[in-house]
Amino acid sequence: MPNVHPKLIEVVIDQTPRAMAAMLLVSFAYFFIFIQFIPLKFMFSWLLFQVVLAVYRLHNAKMFKKHLKNKDTKKVNKNEIYFMILNVFQALMWAISSLLVVIYADQPFEFVMFVVSIGVITAATLSMSALYKAYLIFLFSLIIPQIMIMLYYGEEQHIALVIFILIYIPAIILLSKAMLTSRISSIEAHEALEKSTEKFRQLSIIDTLTNIYNRRYFFEMAQNLILMASREQHKTALLMLDVDYFKRINDTYGHQAGDFVLVELAKSIKEMMRSSDLFARVGGEEFSILLNNTSLVKAQIIAEKIRKMIEEKEFIYNTVSIKTTVSIGLSEVNKENFLLENIYKNADTQLYKAKEMGRNRVCP
Ligand code: GH3
Ligand code: MG
Ligand code: MG
Repeated sequence: MPNVHPKLIEVVIDQTPRAMAAMLLVSFAYFFIFIQFIPLKFMFSWLLFQVVLAVYRLHNAKMFKKHLKNKDTKKVNKNEIYFMILNVFQALMWAISSLLVVIYADQPFEFVMFVVSIGVITAATLSMSALYKAYLIFLFSLIIPQIMIMLYYGEEQHIALVIFILIYIPAIILLSKAMLTSRISSIEAHEALEKSTEKFRQLSIIDTLTNIYNRRYFFEMAQNLILMASREQHKTALLMLDVDYFKRINDTYGHQAGDFVLVELAKSIKEMMRSSDLFARVGGEEFSILLNNTSLVKAQIIAEKIRKMIEEKEFIYNTVSIKTTVSIGLSEVNKENFLLENIYKNADTQLYKAKEMGRNRVCP
């Protein structure tokens, strides 16, 4: 079964309660108009069946919604088949109603029933053509019995009605196709817009070289995270990390090798982070890490792990092995110290100290 776009199914689901209300309204009207002509047992069974079908259709719509929400494609497809079967039953009920009128009622009423059928078809076009296959099945299971009844009774006015149907049906199919096309293109346009908005958002917060957060995002988020942590009395620590003698790597191996080292370094540090940590490239070869829910002592251990990992790592660029080290400055967020600007300055001072003391170390 070809997959129908979930949004198209939603269009039909949303219309179902209204469609069922209209269907029951017409059914009751039919019941009260024709009860004087048609035997009571037929009328009651017919109406009962319509009510049961309406209840099933509503249940079907509810299930559709549930499976769509759970993205359960298998069950959605199964539901679509139930939807088609229910619609075939409903179409046949209208054919039966026409047949009953042609058999038991006077001639002018045949015309009334005919108008009702055309009304049902038009309403179906508006409410369910988004599920196109089901709609076509409904349309033909409604119209073919109608044509057969008219041809069977074969008088002049019946033939005229058949001719009318033969003109009306292609027209309404073209209309429904046009509606479907415009629905699909508006869904596609909406999705393309959402996608490009997301892409622009990503571009504005992600560093294009290392694929981690950029400086802008770090400063946007870090202050919020710090305030949240101090409100909840969580300990938080900030790490400032700078690659040692990075200029030498560029000078010795070339700028591209330098880029490669930055990418690999960011990747391996990211692997050590938890999802709650904020890790960003804040400068050329400078990185910041906000460690959520982490005391200064714990942060020192993590920083030391990072330092050691980089010290031991070999960056293999075009078969050339490049070694490097990092210096790390630490600062703690506490009750007196919860302004990002100050915390950042502290960490930077500690980083400077680490450099002064000979690099490849963590301060404090
Ligand atoms: P220190 O140990 O004092 O930090 O020495 P350093 O050489 O790392 O420090 P410095 O700040 O003098 O040099 C940083 C270098 O990083 C200079 C710059 O050319 C280089 N750099 C900055 N951004 C990039 C980048 O995106 N790619 C590459 N390949 N190099 C970069
Ligand atoms: Mg630097
Ligand atoms: Mg450096």
